[in-house]
Amino acid sequence: MSPATGTPDAFPARLHEPFCVLVVEDQASIRALLADELRQVGASEVLEATSADAALQLFKLRRPDLVLLDIRLPGGNDGYWVAQRMREAEPGGWTPIIFLSGLDGDLDVWRGIEAGGDDYLVKPVKPIVLAAKLRAMRRLRDMRRRLVELTEELHLANQRLNEMVEVDALTGLVNRRGFDRILHSEILAARRDGTPLTLMLCDLDHFKRYNDSLGHVQGDTCLKEVSRVLREVCVRPRDVASRYGGEEFALILPGTPRSGAMTFARALGKVLQSRAIPHPGSPEGSVLTISGGITTCVPDDSTSAETMVMRADQALYAAKAQGRNRFFSFEMQMDTIEQRNL
Ligand code: GH3
Ligand code: MG
Ligand code: MG
Ligand code: MG
Repeated sequence: MSPATGTPDAFPARLHEPFCVLVVEDQASIRALLADELRQVGASEVLEATSADAALQLFKLRRPDLVLLDIRLPGGNDGYWVAQRMREAEPGGWTPIIFLSGLDGDLDVWRGIEAGGDDYLVKPVKPIVLAAKLRAMRRLRDMRRRLVELTEELHLANQRLNEMVEVDALTGLVNRRGFDRILHSEILAARRDGTPLTLMLCDLDHFKRYNDSLGHVQGDTCLKEVSRVLREVCVRPRDVASRYGGEEFALILPGTPRSGAMTFARALGKVLQSRAIPHPGSPEGSVLTISGGITTCVPDDSTSAETMVMRADQALYAAKAQGRNRFFSFEMQMDTIEQRNL
């Protein structure tokens, strides 16, 4: 609770946490008095420096929570110089600096703030004013810490969210996580309705050589282009094109029987062919081709996502073995080229 308003404090002071103050003051009597008062009003540690160089060294070494900085210091460097070096020593960081001076001039205030100071106190400093400043600075320190914590929490939450999102970052297609979920639910739906469900696993032919000859960046561009083609051919509302991983794509085609799946596959091959994506390293010809494994079934109690993926994978292997640039149907034990020649 805030004592003044009786309302809960958004940032309650973390009084149990240590608060370290660096006092930079060349006059021993003033320094001792300040240190004493600071301890009385809650500073857990008071560091003392009598020169600009010692102040900087202590600042870098001990990272205090607050600096009280005299303007006039012995030697060539004054408090303004110290404040500037301190700011440089913690880029992105923020340790409050309060200037101390016997000079009560507007110009001193201006120069102090310009040099990186946050506030200004005129000597002799009244204990009650010092206590109030300490409290305010402590609250600012706590708020800043909380902000850093919240930023970290937000960063983690964003990471978790990204993992939950079912979109592949490179291609914009449904990612593997989404594929698993959708395939599972389409199996349930097809089983309930007694309708055929087709799964196609597609794999780019000789894609390693594509990367080897044109580079990975061009490889990524190519994956995006293929993804556009897959999205285009998935015209029915429940058709799903997903990136299964690497250069492998999986298509879920509900309500598609075996023959329809073969027709779909041939059309897909043709569309890709018409794009004529150059593949200079391909032993099959100069354009990019794709192979696919197809499985189609009306799911029963023994059908699972795993069994469907296994069958499609086996069919894909057959398509590769039979010469690539074709789709092989697990159930028909036939590829799109044989079928066309029938
Ligand atoms: P095959 O015709 O037998 O499928 O030959 P392949 O070279 O396509 O097969 P392999 O599985 O040996 O290599 C797949 C290659 O795909 C490996 C890797 O260089 C490439 N690849 C996988 N994921 C990505 C990706 O995200 N970006 C790029 N640029 N290349 C990828
Ligand atoms: Mg002095
Ligand atoms: Mg592969
Ligand atoms: Mg491949």
